[in-house]
Amino acid sequence: MSTIFSQIVEGEIPARIVYEDEATAAFLDANPLSPGHTLVVPKAEYEQLDDVPADVAADLYDTIHRLVPVVEEAVDADGTTVAFNNGEAAGQEVPHVHCHIVPRFEGDGGGPIHSMFGQRPDLDDDELDDIAADIESRA
Ligand code: AMP
Repeated sequence: MSTIFSQIVEGEIPARIVYEDEATAAFLDANPLSPGHTLVVPKAEYEQLDDVPADVAADLYDTIHRLVPVVEEAVDADGTTVAFNNGEAAGQEVPHVHCHIVPRFEGDGGGPIHSMFGQRPDLDDDELDDIAADIESRA
């Protein structure tokens, strides 16, 4: 079964498509967090970011890069929160990679992404060194 975003890309269900090229599409979020809230997707279905091949990732970033200033201009935003909910644990509901471009306005009360987290972990220098070394060795 194809994802709801594939159905949009295929024109099987309606959406307010704002941009499309060979590899990517962008449309307004049906339940916007702010005016202009836009989703950018690869046309092909990939569930999570690490499933996306490098060439498609480059195309996806190109579209995000193109659309961020355009969306900001269109709704006269002061900034944007640009984010992926990557995986169910991170709140991803639609299993088709998508980037949220959420216009932000002075005083909108939304806060930075840091505000999603309550208590922060208390990591000492050794733990931070271990984590950094582990990530570096896999990168
Ligand atoms: P996420 O939690 O990151 O998976 O976000 C999924 C997003 O898709 C939500 O912001 C929904 O409002 C949006 N959404 C779900 N169905 C549609 C649809 N048919 N057209 C446009 N946006 C949708």
